[in-house]
Amino acid sequence: MRIKIARLLMIIVVLVNLAVLHHIWKLLSYHESKTLNSSVKLNLVKNNSRKHFLNNRNVTIVLRDIEFFENNVAETIESLQNIFPRLKILIVVDSLPYPPLNLKRNDSQDVKMINLQVQLHTSAEKRNPLFHIRTKYVLFLPDSVHISTTELLLTMLSEVDKHPHNIISVPSSNSMSAACLQIFLSVKEWTLQYNHVDEDVCDSVTGRQALLLEADILRMLPEPFMIPFPEAIYIQSSAKKLKVRLLRSTMLRDGRALFQSPHAQWKLQQLTQARRAHMFRTLGIKKVVRETGSVEWYGCNRDIPRCFGSVVGDMPQYLWEDKWTPPCCLAGLRRTARHVFEHLEASGVRYWLEGGSLLGAMRAGDILPWDYDVDVGIYRDDVPRCSWLVRAQSTSVVDDHGFVWEKATEGDFYRVQLSRVNHLHVDLFPFYERNGTMTKDSWFPTHKQDREFPAHFLHPLASLQFVGRLVSVPNNIRDFLELKFGPGAVENPEYPDHSKLRFPRKPAFGEAVVQVDYDY
Ligand code: ZN
Repeated sequence: MRIKIARLLMIIVVLVNLAVLHHIWKLLSYHESKTLNSSVKLNLVKNNSRKHFLNNRNVTIVLRDIEFFENNVAETIESLQNIFPRLKILIVVDSLPYPPLNLKRNDSQDVKMINLQVQLHTSAEKRNPLFHIRTKYVLFLPDSVHISTTELLLTMLSEVDKHPHNIISVPSSNSMSAACLQIFLSVKEWTLQYNHVDEDVCDSVTGRQALLLEADILRMLPEPFMIPFPEAIYIQSSAKKLKVRLLRSTMLRDGRALFQSPHAQWKLQQLTQARRAHMFRTLGIKKVVRETGSVEWYGCNRDIPRCFGSVVGDMPQYLWEDKWTPPCCLAGLRRTARHVFEHLEASGVRYWLEGGSLLGAMRAGDILPWDYDVDVGIYRDDVPRCSWLVRAQSTSVVDDHGFVWEKATEGDFYRVQLSRVNHLHVDLFPFYERNGTMTKDSWFPTHKQDREFPAHFLHPLASLQFVGRLVSVPNNIRDFLELKFGPGAVENPEYPDHSKLRFPRKPAFGEAVVQVDYDY
Protein backbone atom coordinates (compact mmCIF):
# COMPACT_ATOMS: atom_id res chain seq x y z
CA MET A 1 0.00 0.00 0.00
CA ARG A 2 2.77 2.40 1.05
CA ILE A 3 4.77 1.49 -2.03
CA LYS A 4 1.75 2.16 -4.18
CA ILE A 5 1.28 5.62 -2.64
CA ALA A 6 5.00 6.38 -3.06
CA ARG A 7 4.80 5.39 -6.74
CA LEU A 8 1.76 7.54 -7.25
CA LEU A 9 3.50 10.49 -5.60
CA MET A 10 6.56 9.95 -7.79
CA ILE A 11 4.39 9.96 -10.91
CA ILE A 12 2.72 13.18 -9.79
CA VAL A 13 6.11 14.82 -9.11
CA VAL A 14 7.37 13.78 -12.54
CA LEU A 15 4.25 15.15 -14.22
CA VAL A 16 4.49 18.45 -12.37
CA ASN A 17 8.16 18.72 -13.37
CA LEU A 18 7.32 18.04 -16.95
CA ALA A 19 4.66 20.72 -16.91
CA VAL A 20 7.08 23.26 -15.40
CA LEU A 21 9.78 22.35 -17.95
CA HIS A 22 7.29 22.73 -20.79
CA HIS A 23 6.27 26.13 -19.51
CA ILE A 24 9.91 27.26 -19.22
CA TRP A 25 10.62 25.98 -22.74
CA LYS A 26 7.65 27.91 -24.09
CA LEU A 27 8.78 31.07 -22.33
CA LEU A 28 12.29 30.61 -23.74
CA SER A 29 11.15 30.04 -27.27
CA TYR A 30 8.83 33.04 -27.02
CA HIS A 31 11.74 35.07 -25.66
CA GLU A 32 13.95 33.84 -28.47
CA SER A 33 11.49 34.61 -31.17
CA LYS A 34 11.04 38.10 -29.76
CA THR A 35 14.71 39.00 -29.38
CA LEU A 36 17.04 36.83 -31.44
CA ASN A 37 18.05 38.58 -34.58
CA SER A 38 19.28 35.60 -36.53
CA SER A 39 17.99 33.02 -38.91
CA VAL A 40 16.96 31.04 -35.84
CA LYS A 41 14.35 33.69 -35.23
CA LEU A 42 13.09 33.61 -38.80
CA ASN A 43 12.84 29.83 -38.67
CA LEU A 44 11.04 29.97 -35.38
CA VAL A 45 8.59 32.53 -36.73
CA LYS A 46 8.15 30.54 -39.88
CA ASN A 47 7.70 27.27 -38.03
CA ASN A 48 5.24 28.91 -35.70
CA SER A 49 3.25 30.46 -38.49
CA ARG A 50 3.48 27.28 -40.55
CA LYS A 51 1.96 25.41 -37.60
CA HIS A 52 -0.42 28.28 -37.12
CA PHE A 53 -1.95 28.41 -40.53
CA LEU A 54 -1.78 24.72 -41.32
CA ASN A 55 -3.37 23.65 -38.07
CA ASN A 56 -5.72 26.49 -37.44
CA ARG A 57 -6.57 27.05 -41.07
CA ASN A 58 -5.87 30.70 -40.55
CA VAL A 59 -5.89 31.68 -44.23
CA THR A 60 -8.60 31.54 -46.88
CA ILE A 61 -7.45 31.61 -50.49
CA VAL A 62 -9.57 33.62 -52.92
CA LEU A 63 -9.41 33.61 -56.72
CA ARG A 64 -11.19 36.69 -58.01
CA ASP A 65 -9.94 37.69 -61.46
CA ILE A 66 -10.91 34.72 -63.59
CA GLU A 67 -11.88 34.99 -67.24
CA PHE A 68 -14.30 32.37 -68.48
CA PHE A 69 -13.09 32.54 -72.09
CA GLU A 70 -9.57 31.54 -71.08
CA ASN A 71 -8.31 30.41 -67.70
CA ASN A 72 -6.17 27.96 -65.80
CA VAL A 73 -8.29 27.56 -62.70
CA ALA A 74 -8.21 23.76 -62.62
CA GLU A 75 -4.41 23.52 -62.55
CA THR A 76 -4.06 26.43 -60.17
CA ILE A 77 -6.40 24.84 -57.68
CA GLU A 78 -4.67 21.49 -57.98
CA SER A 79 -1.29 23.02 -57.16
CA LEU A 80 -2.84 24.92 -54.26
CA GLN A 81 -4.44 21.82 -52.83
CA ASN A 82 -1.16 19.92 -53.01
CA ILE A 83 0.67 22.52 -50.99
CA PHE A 84 -2.16 23.71 -48.71
CA PRO A 85 -4.38 20.65 -48.33
CA ARG A 86 -6.31 22.14 -45.41
CA LEU A 87 -6.92 25.67 -46.62
CA LYS A 88 -10.30 26.71 -47.93
CA ILE A 89 -10.35 28.06 -51.48
CA LEU A 90 -13.07 30.41 -52.74
CA ILE A 91 -13.62 31.13 -56.41
CA VAL A 92 -15.59 34.37 -56.59
CA VAL A 93 -17.37 34.92 -59.92
CA ASP A 94 -19.92 37.43 -61.25
CA SER A 95 -22.01 34.79 -62.97
CA LEU A 96 -22.05 31.04 -63.42
CA PRO A 97 -18.92 30.22 -65.47
CA TYR A 98 -19.58 29.39 -69.08
CA PRO A 99 -18.01 27.34 -70.51
CA PRO A 100 -17.85 25.48 -67.16
CA LEU A 101 -14.52 25.59 -65.31
CA ASN A 102 -12.81 22.27 -65.80
CA LEU A 103 -12.46 21.54 -62.10
CA LYS A 104 -11.65 18.05 -60.87
CA ARG A 105 -14.52 16.61 -58.93
CA ASN A 106 -13.95 17.72 -55.39
CA ASP A 107 -15.88 16.09 -52.61
CA SER A 108 -14.38 18.17 -49.84
CA GLN A 109 -15.90 21.44 -48.76
CA ASP A 110 -12.57 23.14 -49.32
CA VAL A 111 -13.19 24.55 -52.77
CA LYS A 112 -16.28 26.70 -53.06
CA MET A 113 -17.59 28.79 -55.89
CA ILE A 114 -19.38 31.99 -54.86
CA ASN A 115 -21.56 33.43 -57.57
CA LEU A 116 -22.22 37.13 -56.91
CA GLN A 117 -25.15 37.20 -59.33
CA VAL A 118 -28.60 37.52 -57.78
CA GLN A 119 -30.42 34.20 -57.94
CA LEU A 120 -33.84 33.39 -56.61
CA HIS A 121 -32.74 30.32 -54.66
CA THR A 122 -29.64 31.87 -53.08
CA SER A 123 -29.82 34.10 -50.01
CA ALA A 124 -27.99 37.42 -49.87
CA GLU A 125 -25.91 36.03 -47.03
CA LYS A 126 -24.71 32.96 -48.94
CA ARG A 127 -23.97 35.10 -51.96
CA ASN A 128 -21.61 37.26 -49.88
CA PRO A 129 -18.06 35.84 -49.95
CA LEU A 130 -17.43 37.29 -46.48
CA PHE A 131 -20.00 34.87 -45.09
CA HIS A 132 -17.68 32.02 -46.14
CA ILE A 133 -14.50 33.53 -44.74
CA ARG A 134 -13.87 32.50 -41.13
CA THR A 135 -10.10 32.90 -41.08
CA LYS A 136 -8.01 35.81 -39.85
CA TYR A 137 -6.27 36.28 -43.21
CA VAL A 138 -7.25 36.17 -46.85
CA LEU A 139 -4.80 35.45 -49.65
CA PHE A 140 -5.89 36.67 -53.09
CA LEU A 141 -4.17 34.96 -55.99
CA PRO A 142 -4.42 35.68 -59.71
CA ASP A 143 -5.42 32.88 -62.04
CA SER A 144 -2.67 30.57 -63.34
CA VAL A 145 -0.10 30.69 -60.58
CA HIS A 146 2.12 27.77 -59.75
CA ILE A 147 2.57 27.25 -56.01
CA SER A 148 5.20 24.62 -55.20
CA THR A 149 6.21 25.50 -51.64
CA THR A 150 4.71 27.15 -48.61
CA GLU A 151 7.47 29.79 -48.59
CA LEU A 152 5.50 32.52 -50.32
CA LEU A 153 2.61 32.40 -47.89
CA LEU A 154 4.94 32.06 -44.88
CA THR A 155 6.93 35.11 -45.90
CA MET A 156 3.75 37.10 -46.42
CA LEU A 157 2.35 35.98 -43.07
CA SER A 158 5.52 36.94 -41.22
CA GLU A 159 5.42 40.34 -42.98
CA VAL A 160 1.81 41.01 -41.98
CA ASP A 161 2.75 39.92 -38.42
CA LYS A 162 5.31 42.72 -38.38
CA HIS A 163 2.95 45.25 -39.95
CA PRO A 164 -0.60 44.65 -38.79
CA HIS A 165 -3.37 46.17 -40.93
CA ASN A 166 -1.02 46.48 -43.90
CA ILE A 167 -1.77 44.75 -47.17
CA ILE A 168 1.11 42.57 -48.34
CA SER A 169 1.67 42.31 -52.07
CA VAL A 170 4.04 40.00 -53.95
CA PRO A 171 4.47 40.58 -57.69
CA SER A 172 4.26 37.70 -60.13
CA SER A 173 7.40 36.58 -61.95
CA ASN A 174 5.87 37.70 -65.25
CA SER A 175 4.91 41.12 -64.03
CA MET A 176 7.66 43.46 -65.16
CA SER A 177 5.56 46.43 -64.22
CA ALA A 178 4.94 46.05 -60.48
CA ALA A 179 4.89 49.66 -59.37
CA CYS A 180 4.07 51.22 -56.04
CA LEU A 181 1.67 54.14 -56.46
CA GLN A 182 0.36 56.84 -54.22
CA ILE A 183 -3.34 57.67 -54.50
CA PHE A 184 -4.84 61.12 -54.06
CA LEU A 185 -8.57 60.74 -53.73
CA SER A 186 -10.85 63.76 -53.63
CA VAL A 187 -14.40 62.53 -53.16
CA LYS A 188 -15.58 66.12 -53.14
CA GLU A 189 -14.08 66.72 -56.59
CA TRP A 190 -14.97 63.26 -57.95
CA THR A 191 -11.30 62.82 -58.77
CA LEU A 192 -8.56 60.26 -58.32
CA GLN A 193 -4.91 60.84 -59.00
CA TYR A 194 -2.08 58.29 -59.09
CA ASN A 195 1.55 59.23 -58.45
CA HIS A 196 4.73 57.16 -58.65
CA VAL A 197 6.62 56.69 -55.40
CA ASP A 198 10.12 55.28 -54.97
CA GLU A 199 9.37 53.41 -51.77
CA ASP A 200 7.79 49.98 -51.52
CA VAL A 201 5.13 51.17 -49.10
CA CYS A 202 2.29 52.96 -50.85
CA ASP A 203 -1.46 52.92 -51.61
CA SER A 204 -1.70 50.72 -54.70
CA VAL A 205 0.42 48.14 -56.51
CA THR A 206 0.04 47.51 -60.23
CA GLY A 207 0.37 44.27 -62.18
CA ARG A 208 -0.26 40.59 -61.45
CA GLN A 209 0.27 39.86 -57.79
CA ALA A 210 -0.55 37.85 -54.70
CA LEU A 211 -2.16 39.90 -51.99
CA LEU A 212 -2.52 39.04 -48.30
CA LEU A 213 -4.61 40.99 -45.84
CA GLU A 214 -6.68 40.63 -42.70
CA ALA A 215 -10.23 39.51 -43.37
CA ASP A 216 -11.41 42.33 -41.09
CA ILE A 217 -10.08 44.83 -43.64
CA LEU A 218 -12.38 43.30 -46.25
CA ARG A 219 -15.28 43.71 -43.84
CA MET A 220 -14.72 47.45 -43.53
CA LEU A 221 -14.52 48.16 -47.28
CA PRO A 222 -17.68 49.14 -49.20
CA GLU A 223 -17.26 46.59 -52.02
CA PRO A 224 -14.16 44.44 -51.39
CA PHE A 225 -14.69 42.02 -54.29
CA MET A 226 -15.25 44.69 -56.93
CA ILE A 227 -13.42 44.22 -60.23
CA PRO A 228 -11.00 44.98 -61.83
CA PHE A 229 -9.18 43.28 -58.96
CA PRO A 230 -6.96 44.44 -57.26
CA GLU A 231 -7.31 47.95 -58.72
CA ALA A 232 -10.70 48.36 -57.06
CA ILE A 233 -9.67 47.14 -53.62
CA TYR A 234 -6.68 49.50 -53.52
CA ILE A 235 -8.87 52.54 -54.19
CA GLN A 236 -11.09 51.49 -51.30
CA SER A 237 -8.23 50.66 -48.92
CA SER A 238 -6.48 53.94 -49.69
CA ALA A 239 -9.70 55.77 -48.82
CA LYS A 240 -9.35 54.10 -45.39
CA LYS A 241 -5.70 55.23 -45.21
CA LEU A 242 -4.46 51.62 -45.32
CA LYS A 243 -1.00 50.97 -46.74
CA VAL A 244 0.25 48.24 -49.03
CA ARG A 245 3.76 46.78 -48.80
CA LEU A 246 5.31 45.53 -52.00
CA LEU A 247 7.62 42.59 -51.22
CA ARG A 248 10.20 42.37 -53.95
CA SER A 249 12.38 39.87 -52.09
CA THR A 250 10.07 37.02 -52.95
CA MET A 251 8.16 36.18 -56.08
CA LEU A 252 4.93 34.61 -57.20
CA ARG A 253 5.60 31.95 -59.84
CA ASP A 254 3.31 31.99 -62.82
CA GLY A 255 1.71 28.92 -64.31
CA ARG A 256 0.77 28.51 -67.96
CA ALA A 257 0.75 31.87 -69.74
CA LEU A 258 -2.74 33.13 -70.55
CA PHE A 259 -4.09 35.54 -73.18
CA GLN A 260 -1.28 35.04 -75.69
CA SER A 261 -3.29 35.49 -78.88
CA PRO A 262 -4.02 39.04 -80.12
CA HIS A 263 -7.72 38.27 -80.00
CA ALA A 264 -7.59 37.15 -76.36
CA GLN A 265 -5.58 40.24 -75.48
CA TRP A 266 -8.07 42.48 -77.26
CA LYS A 267 -10.98 40.78 -75.52
CA LEU A 268 -9.35 41.11 -72.11
CA GLN A 269 -8.62 44.77 -72.75
CA GLN A 270 -12.25 45.46 -73.75
CA LEU A 271 -13.56 43.70 -70.66
CA THR A 272 -11.13 45.51 -68.37
CA GLN A 273 -12.08 48.89 -69.80
CA ALA A 274 -15.79 48.23 -69.33
CA ARG A 275 -15.22 46.99 -65.77
CA ARG A 276 -13.03 49.97 -64.96
CA ALA A 277 -15.68 52.41 -66.23
CA HIS A 278 -18.30 50.62 -64.11
CA MET A 279 -16.01 50.66 -61.08
CA PHE A 280 -15.27 54.39 -61.31
CA ARG A 281 -18.94 55.24 -61.79
CA THR A 282 -19.87 53.08 -58.81
CA LEU A 283 -17.21 54.74 -56.67
CA GLY A 284 -18.26 58.26 -57.73
CA ILE A 285 -15.04 59.03 -59.59
CA LYS A 286 -15.38 60.97 -62.83
CA LYS A 287 -11.83 61.97 -63.53
CA VAL A 288 -8.69 59.87 -63.18
CA VAL A 289 -5.20 61.28 -63.56
CA ARG A 290 -2.78 58.41 -64.20
CA GLU A 291 0.80 58.34 -62.88
CA THR A 292 1.91 59.08 -66.45
CA GLY A 293 -0.12 62.30 -66.41
CA SER A 294 -2.76 61.05 -68.86
CA VAL A 295 -6.35 61.88 -67.93
CA GLU A 296 -9.36 59.58 -68.15
CA TRP A 297 -12.95 60.85 -67.94
CA TYR A 298 -15.82 58.76 -66.58
CA GLY A 299 -18.47 61.44 -66.19
CA CYS A 300 -20.68 63.21 -68.69
CA ASN A 301 -19.56 64.50 -72.06
CA ARG A 302 -21.18 66.37 -74.91
CA ASP A 303 -23.07 63.29 -76.13
CA ILE A 304 -24.77 62.37 -72.85
CA PRO A 305 -26.80 64.35 -70.29
CA ARG A 306 -24.94 66.35 -67.65
CA CYS A 307 -24.18 64.64 -64.32
CA PHE A 308 -26.78 66.48 -62.23
CA GLY A 309 -30.50 67.04 -62.74
CA SER A 310 -32.58 70.20 -62.59
CA VAL A 311 -31.35 72.63 -59.96
CA VAL A 312 -34.01 73.38 -57.34
CA GLY A 313 -33.75 76.60 -55.34
CA ASP A 314 -30.17 77.39 -56.49
CA MET A 315 -28.95 74.24 -54.69
CA PRO A 316 -27.62 71.57 -57.06
CA GLN A 317 -27.88 67.95 -55.98
CA TYR A 318 -24.10 67.47 -55.59
CA LEU A 319 -23.91 70.21 -52.93
CA TRP A 320 -26.60 68.39 -51.00
CA GLU A 321 -24.31 65.32 -51.21
CA ASP A 322 -21.45 67.45 -49.82
CA LYS A 323 -19.62 67.43 -53.12
CA TRP A 324 -18.49 70.00 -55.64
CA THR A 325 -19.31 70.31 -59.34
CA PRO A 326 -18.25 67.15 -61.20
CA PRO A 327 -15.00 67.87 -63.07
CA CYS A 328 -16.53 66.82 -66.40
CA CYS A 329 -19.26 69.41 -65.87
CA LEU A 330 -16.74 72.12 -65.01
CA ALA A 331 -14.87 71.23 -68.20
CA GLY A 332 -18.13 71.40 -70.21
CA LEU A 333 -19.01 74.75 -68.65
CA ARG A 334 -15.58 76.19 -69.48
CA ARG A 335 -15.86 75.00 -73.04
CA THR A 336 -19.32 76.52 -73.48
CA ALA A 337 -18.23 79.77 -71.83
CA ARG A 338 -15.18 80.17 -74.07
CA HIS A 339 -17.36 79.60 -77.11
CA VAL A 340 -19.87 82.22 -75.96
CA PHE A 341 -17.17 84.84 -75.25
CA GLU A 342 -15.66 84.30 -78.70
CA HIS A 343 -19.05 84.79 -80.35
CA LEU A 344 -20.00 87.86 -78.35
CA GLU A 345 -16.63 89.50 -79.03
CA ALA A 346 -16.69 88.63 -82.73
CA SER A 347 -20.17 90.12 -83.16
CA GLY A 348 -19.50 93.20 -81.03
CA VAL A 349 -21.88 92.46 -78.15
CA ARG A 350 -20.63 94.17 -74.96
CA TYR A 351 -20.72 91.71 -72.04
CA TRP A 352 -19.41 91.31 -68.49
CA LEU A 353 -19.14 88.45 -66.01
CA GLU A 354 -21.90 88.38 -63.43
CA GLY A 355 -22.55 86.86 -60.00
CA GLY A 356 -20.72 83.68 -59.00
CA SER A 357 -18.77 83.60 -62.26
CA LEU A 358 -17.25 87.00 -61.52
CA LEU A 359 -16.53 85.89 -57.97
CA GLY A 360 -14.74 82.79 -59.29
CA ALA A 361 -12.76 84.88 -61.78
CA MET A 362 -11.65 87.25 -59.06
CA ARG A 363 -10.73 84.44 -56.64
CA ALA A 364 -9.05 81.95 -58.93
CA GLY A 365 -9.52 82.89 -62.58
CA ASP A 366 -12.01 80.07 -62.94
CA ILE A 367 -15.57 78.94 -62.29
CA LEU A 368 -16.24 78.51 -58.55
CA PRO A 369 -15.64 74.80 -57.84
CA TRP A 370 -19.27 74.33 -56.76
CA ASP A 371 -20.99 76.49 -59.41
CA TYR A 372 -23.38 74.90 -61.90
CA ASP A 373 -23.54 77.52 -64.64
CA VAL A 374 -21.82 80.64 -65.94
CA ASP A 375 -23.58 84.00 -65.68
CA VAL A 376 -22.91 86.81 -68.11
CA GLY A 377 -24.53 90.24 -68.44
CA ILE A 378 -25.01 91.80 -71.90
CA TYR A 379 -26.35 95.12 -73.17
CA ARG A 380 -29.88 94.49 -74.39
CA ASP A 381 -29.31 97.05 -77.14
CA ASP A 382 -26.47 94.89 -78.55
CA VAL A 383 -28.58 91.74 -78.99
CA PRO A 384 -29.39 92.44 -82.70
CA ARG A 385 -25.64 92.30 -83.46
CA CYS A 386 -25.40 88.58 -82.71
CA SER A 387 -27.26 86.47 -85.25
CA TRP A 388 -27.53 83.47 -82.92
CA LEU A 389 -29.17 85.57 -80.21
CA VAL A 390 -31.59 86.96 -82.80
CA ARG A 391 -32.49 83.48 -84.05
CA ALA A 392 -32.81 82.21 -80.47
CA GLN A 393 -35.65 84.68 -79.88
CA SER A 394 -38.08 82.63 -81.92
CA THR A 395 -36.75 79.08 -81.50
CA SER A 396 -33.86 77.09 -80.08
CA VAL A 397 -31.03 76.76 -82.62
CA VAL A 398 -27.87 74.70 -82.88
CA ASP A 399 -24.87 76.67 -84.12
CA ASP A 400 -22.04 75.45 -86.40
CA HIS A 401 -20.15 74.07 -83.40
CA GLY A 402 -23.02 72.12 -81.86
CA PHE A 403 -23.90 74.62 -79.09
CA VAL A 404 -27.59 75.34 -78.55
CA TRP A 405 -28.83 78.96 -78.34
CA GLU A 406 -32.28 79.60 -76.93
CA LYS A 407 -34.48 81.99 -75.04
CA ALA A 408 -34.79 80.67 -71.49
CA THR A 409 -38.21 79.52 -70.41
CA GLU A 410 -37.60 80.76 -66.84
CA GLY A 411 -37.43 84.43 -67.71
CA ASP A 412 -36.33 87.12 -70.08
CA PHE A 413 -32.80 85.93 -70.80
CA TYR A 414 -30.77 83.75 -73.19
CA ARG A 415 -29.11 80.42 -72.58
CA VAL A 416 -26.31 78.68 -74.49
CA GLN A 417 -26.03 74.94 -73.86
CA LEU A 418 -23.09 72.61 -74.45
CA SER A 419 -25.24 70.45 -76.77
CA ARG A 420 -28.77 69.23 -77.40
CA VAL A 421 -28.40 66.46 -74.80
CA ASN A 422 -25.97 68.01 -72.34
CA HIS A 423 -27.60 71.05 -70.76
CA LEU A 424 -24.55 72.59 -69.09
CA HIS A 425 -25.03 76.24 -69.92
CA VAL A 426 -24.08 79.88 -69.89
CA ASP A 427 -26.88 82.33 -69.06
CA LEU A 428 -26.89 85.72 -70.80
CA PHE A 429 -28.87 88.43 -68.99
CA PRO A 430 -29.82 91.47 -71.11
CA PHE A 431 -29.55 94.69 -69.06
CA TYR A 432 -30.43 98.23 -70.12
CA GLU A 433 -29.57 101.58 -68.58
CA ARG A 434 -32.22 103.73 -66.92
CA ASN A 435 -31.27 106.92 -65.04
CA GLY A 436 -27.71 105.74 -64.48
CA THR A 437 -28.83 102.30 -63.24
CA MET A 438 -28.42 98.99 -65.06
CA THR A 439 -31.69 97.11 -64.84
CA LYS A 440 -33.69 94.36 -66.54
CA ASP A 441 -37.26 93.18 -66.71
CA SER A 442 -37.23 89.85 -64.83
CA TRP A 443 -35.43 88.73 -61.69
CA PHE A 444 -34.61 85.47 -59.90
CA PRO A 445 -36.15 85.53 -56.44
CA THR A 446 -33.75 82.73 -55.27
CA HIS A 447 -30.62 84.56 -56.50
CA LYS A 448 -29.88 87.34 -54.05
CA GLN A 449 -27.09 88.59 -56.34
CA ASP A 450 -29.63 89.20 -59.11
CA ARG A 451 -30.15 92.94 -58.68
CA GLU A 452 -29.72 96.36 -60.28
CA PHE A 453 -26.41 98.21 -60.14
CA PRO A 454 -25.03 101.67 -61.06
CA ALA A 455 -24.01 101.93 -64.71
CA HIS A 456 -20.59 103.39 -63.79
CA PHE A 457 -19.35 99.84 -63.06
CA LEU A 458 -19.44 99.30 -66.82
CA HIS A 459 -17.74 102.60 -67.80
CA PRO A 460 -15.26 101.44 -68.74
CA LEU A 461 -15.31 97.63 -68.78
CA ALA A 462 -12.18 95.94 -67.43
CA SER A 463 -10.76 92.52 -68.22
CA LEU A 464 -9.75 89.50 -66.16
CA GLN A 465 -8.48 85.96 -66.66
CA PHE A 466 -11.29 83.38 -66.67
CA VAL A 467 -11.56 79.77 -67.94
CA GLY A 468 -8.22 80.11 -69.72
CA ARG A 469 -8.67 83.45 -71.53
CA LEU A 470 -9.18 87.14 -70.90
CA VAL A 471 -12.82 88.13 -70.50
CA SER A 472 -14.60 91.40 -69.97
CA VAL A 473 -15.68 92.35 -66.41
CA PRO A 474 -17.03 95.42 -64.58
CA ASN A 475 -14.52 97.91 -63.19
CA ASN A 476 -14.06 98.06 -59.43
CA ILE A 477 -14.97 94.40 -59.08
CA ARG A 478 -14.74 94.21 -55.32
CA ASP A 479 -17.35 96.94 -54.81
CA PHE A 480 -19.49 95.41 -57.54
CA LEU A 481 -19.42 91.98 -55.83
CA GLU A 482 -20.05 93.39 -52.36
CA LEU A 483 -23.00 95.30 -53.73
CA LYS A 484 -24.41 92.06 -55.15
CA PHE A 485 -23.45 89.49 -52.47
CA GLY A 486 -22.85 91.66 -49.42
CA PRO A 487 -19.67 92.62 -47.52
CA GLY A 488 -16.81 90.09 -47.40
CA ALA A 489 -18.13 88.09 -50.34
CA VAL A 490 -14.75 87.95 -52.08
CA GLU A 491 -12.79 86.73 -49.07
CA ASN A 492 -15.48 84.41 -47.76
CA PRO A 493 -17.66 83.13 -50.57
CA GLU A 494 -20.65 81.10 -49.46
CA TYR A 495 -22.56 78.22 -50.94
CA PRO A 496 -25.82 79.33 -52.59
CA ASP A 497 -28.35 78.18 -50.02
CA HIS A 498 -26.54 77.62 -46.78
CA SER A 499 -29.61 76.66 -44.80
CA LYS A 500 -30.30 73.63 -46.99
CA LEU A 501 -26.88 72.01 -46.63
CA ARG A 502 -26.66 68.73 -44.76
CA PHE A 503 -23.20 69.71 -43.47
CA PRO A 504 -23.51 73.49 -43.16
CA ARG A 505 -20.05 74.98 -43.45
CA LYS A 506 -18.16 77.44 -45.56
CA PRO A 507 -16.40 76.28 -48.68
CA ALA A 508 -12.66 75.81 -48.13
CA PHE A 509 -10.59 76.43 -51.23
CA GLY A 510 -7.66 74.63 -49.65
CA GLU A 511 -9.55 71.36 -50.09
CA ALA A 512 -8.91 71.42 -53.82
CA VAL A 513 -6.12 69.00 -54.71
CA VAL A 514 -6.68 68.78 -58.39
CA GLN A 515 -5.07 70.88 -61.07
CA VAL A 516 -7.36 72.81 -63.35
CA ASP A 517 -7.36 71.68 -66.93
CA TYR A 518 -9.63 73.20 -69.42
CA ASP A 519 -10.86 70.45 -71.68
CA TYR A 520 -12.08 66.89 -71.84
ZN1 ZN B 1 -20.50 65.93 -65.78
